[in-house]
Order: sequence, then structure tokens, then C-alpha cells
Amino acid sequence: MGFLDNLSKTISQGVDRAKFEAEKFQKTTRLQGEANELRRQIDARLAELGQKAYELYRAGQISSATVGELATAIDQLRSALVVKEEELKQAQAEVFVEPTPTPPPSPSQQVPISYEAPAQPQAAATKQCGVCGFTMPTTAMFCPNCGTRVA
Ligand SMILES: [Zn+2]
Repeated sequence: MGFLDNLSKTISQGVDRAKFEAEKFQKTTRLQGEANELRRQIDARLAELGQKAYELYRAGQISSATVGELATAIDQLRSALVVKEEELKQAQAEVFVEPTPTPPPSPSQQVPISYEAPAQPQAAATKQCGVCGFTMPTTAMFCPNCGTRVA
């Protein structure tokens, strides 16, 4: 067998293998899907059966401790679900609140500050005449005593 024959055979085998793998993948995927569908139908029937058993138990037509336990567990889960759904509704209703800066106090909120004049001692604002030494208010422009201009 020559080199080309080998090469050709290798390529041919590669194609066959790829084709085989593709068909295998297709087949297994299909079968997997069909098996899943059957499982889904079984689960659905089981759920239906459970629903019926639950109803019959509640109607007093089934007397079974196991079914009773399951029915009680279902009731507890339903109660929890009601609470959870309410919680969810509240969480969905929450809105983002922008953090607001502290507003400046409105005039009505301002504490009125009573103004009191500082109790300063009435220091006698006086000056003395440079000529006769007479004491007079600083506002005087002439000495009342000697008439000298003091402003
Ligand atoms: Zn004077």
C-alpha cells in the first residue's frame, strides 16, 4: 500500500468517524430528550396523584399517616409561600430614596433670639480743656469754662 493510499484511507476514516460522531450525538440527544419528556410526564402524573391524595386525605377518604405527614408539610410550605410572596411584593414595591441633605431650618422653626443690649457701664465720655482743665463732654467744641476751642 502506497503513501497516497494510506493518506486517502486515513482521510476517509476521519470522515467516517466525524460522520459517526455526529450521528451518535444526534441520536443520543434525541433519546435524551425523549427520556426527559417521559420523566417530565411521570413527574406530572405523580404531582397529579399527590394532589388527588392530598384532596382525598383532607376529605377524610384516605387514612394514612404518611399521606397525613405529607399533607401537613404541604400546608406549612403553602403558609411559608404566602408569607414569602408578601415579602417579595413589598421588596418589589421598594423605591430608591435619594439621600436628601438636611434642609435649612425654615423661619418658623428658628428659635427666636431675644436681643438684649449689652449692659455696658455708661462710661462718661468726657475730655478736659487743655487750658483751664475743665471737664466737659467729648462732644463739646468749645470749653464751657474758658471758651477755648477744644474740638
Ligand atoms: Zn477751658
